[in-house]
Amino acid sequence: MNKQNETMDDADQLFRISLEKALPSLSISTQAVHADDVLNNVDDVAPPIHVAATFRYPRAADRMREHHERPSYPVLCVGEHCYSRQSTPGLSRLEAVLSSILGQPCIAYSSGLAAFHALLIMLKPKKVSIGAGYHGCHGTLELYARASGTEVLPLDCVVDQLGPGDLVHLETPVNPTGRAFNIQYYADRAHSRGAYLSVDSTFAPPPLQDAFLHGADIVMHSGTKYIGGHSDFLCGILAVKSRRGGGGDWLQQLHRDRLYLGSVMAGFDSWLATRSIRTLEMRVLKQSQSAETIIRALHAGLMGTQPSSSKNLTEKDIHIIQKVVKEIHHASLQDEANTGGSWLRKQMPRGYGSVFSLTLHKVDFARNLPSKLLLFHHATSLGGVESLIEWRTMTDSTVAKDFLRVSIGVESPEDLLADLLQGMKAVVAETS
Ligand SMILES: *Cc1c(COP(=O)(O)O)cnc(C)c1O
Repeated sequence: MNKQNETMDDADQLFRISLEKALPSLSISTQAVHADDVLNNVDDVAPPIHVAATFRYPRAADRMREHHERPSYPVLCVGEHCYSRQSTPGLSRLEAVLSSILGQPCIAYSSGLAAFHALLIMLKPKKVSIGAGYHGCHGTLELYARASGTEVLPLDCVVDQLGPGDLVHLETPVNPTGRAFNIQYYADRAHSRGAYLSVDSTFAPPPLQDAFLHGADIVMHSGTKYIGGHSDFLCGILAVKSRRGGGGDWLQQLHRDRLYLGSVMAGFDSWLATRSIRTLEMRVLKQSQSAETIIRALHAGLMGTQPSSSKNLTEKDIHIIQKVVKEIHHASLQDEANTGGSWLRKQMPRGYGSVFSLTLHKVDFARNLPSKLLLFHHATSLGGVESLIEWRTMTDSTVAKDFLRVSIGVESPEDLLADLLQGMKAVVAETS
């Protein structure tokens, strides 16, 4: 190595140390753009796409290491990757950003349900207390319980039924309604019995909710939704409190387990995710604010009043809203959202998320409204830049047939509201 190279290495080393030191005090939006800079081993400003399934070992004999000498998981150093079922450079970069913005070590999976499965496999709870929530998680738990004999209890079971090592799994805000639950309350319940609390925080990604601040031991996200944000790949995330886990460290265990579960995130998808996460904060805040604007207008219409935050409704608009909409569900409409100092305000200080739901007066309204809209795709999923609406009974057997789930994208809220109103007029005209 010549003198010049040595100096460059020193400068790189100094940069790494300085950045790692600065990161924790930087804002989420800055972390989302820079937390993986320390893992950048090329000159490219944009991260390269790694699609390799396997990685070359060092040529130099003195750098080859036997299995037991290899670094423990997670592999974060470039040059230490071995086989992509274990880790890839792109995935390590994504996990570095996720760990930074979620505030605890993270591991990513091939889907949200793969992450939930990995969580169950790691904790091996004898009992799982779980409430309303995404139907897919209930499916995964049923599968796990079939193999393990784990007992499934309701969220508000008698607390004495829980014991050490059991799991309380809380989803908040909950899919599909968007209603929120008090994380600290369920954390205290779980911890009073020596059980753990995991929180599915998919509906409230950073910067909306940090479940760790309210007692969660593990936070799960379907990264498919807001983290991805462009409806183009699947991803699951577990963030774990690093000091938990008794004898072994949870993160190490999860990395070892993922190698054998085979549910690693694909190379190209982890590149897409890293690209997407750069804009997470601005997308999520805008989507959440837009949703609130739309919800306030619809709610005002339902009450026969005028919204304070957007353009006035016409008499006709109010009449149509009242004719079509029976109920609006969203955390922003819960009493606690409008009470200063409430748990909900503390839990979601920056907004209540961009997913809400509507119960309509007629099943036909719910079935037909999605097809009348210009700016909403009639599709499942949520959290993307495109607004979506779903007649929820098409994928979820647990909801009523008069029920629609709405996910607000990054379009203008005024355009979206106008589209919803014209759609409502059209379904009323058609069915009367
Ligand atoms: C979509 C979703 C999941 C499942 O995630 P996938 O990435 O589709 O596997 C889990 N929980 C919630 C709340 C979801 O919305």
